[in-house]
Amino acid sequence: MNVPDVHTHRPVPPGATAIRSLEPGEVLAPAHGYFSAGIHPWRIPKAWEEVMESLAVTAADPRCLAIGECGLDKARLKALPSGQRPAALDLQTAVFEAHIRLSETLGKPLVIHGVRAWGELIALRKRHKPRQAWLLHGFRGSPDAARALLEAEFHLSFGEHYRADALRTVPAGRLFAETDESALPIGLIAENLARDRGDDPDELARILTANFRRVFFREP
Ligand SMILES: [Zn+2]
Repeated sequence: MNVPDVHTHRPVPPGATAIRSLEPGEVLAPAHGYFSAGIHPWRIPKAWEEVMESLAVTAADPRCLAIGECGLDKARLKALPSGQRPAALDLQTAVFEAHIRLSETLGKPLVIHGVRAWGELIALRKRHKPRQAWLLHGFRGSPDAARALLEAEFHLSFGEHYRADALRTVPAGRLFAETDESALPIGLIAENLARDRGDDPDELARILTANFRRVFFREP
């Protein structure tokens, strides 16, 4: 199946449609193909405000289709002594909010990494009232989490691992597919999604392509 891969950390073969996720410190702007640019919540540099300024320049490239991945990861805070966790979450939030502003300024969607932070992400979307689409990547949550996020107008992207019961709650128009770090080809991931949704694979491929064009190229 030939479907767009909305989030990958691997080099993209020429001819494939994929958004390669890049971070500061990686070679920003690859030789060919589309990319996204952002600060991952696991790797926030000390001078993140300066880094955001150079990221804004890179992200203005027309081949940069989205801002991110960026977001909130509360599981990551568990590694810290409990007294340091609130400040660490505040820092993740401040960096994520800088990405929200950049997404709105440049008119490009957000690709979001979210772990155990559905409530916070939904509250941020309500507070900022963004015009841009917010795509939660690598969604592995429950059907209840999916419903709450869909209600708040998130788009959900699924990769190699997910809950099939949550996958089935997503309306076709909000669904995306990705490889992320997986070695599985995107076509196989999309076939798994079609099987677990009970969708015709060709029909799902058409839908995933149409969603990609609508969200990242503003096609109707
Ligand atoms: Zn990723």
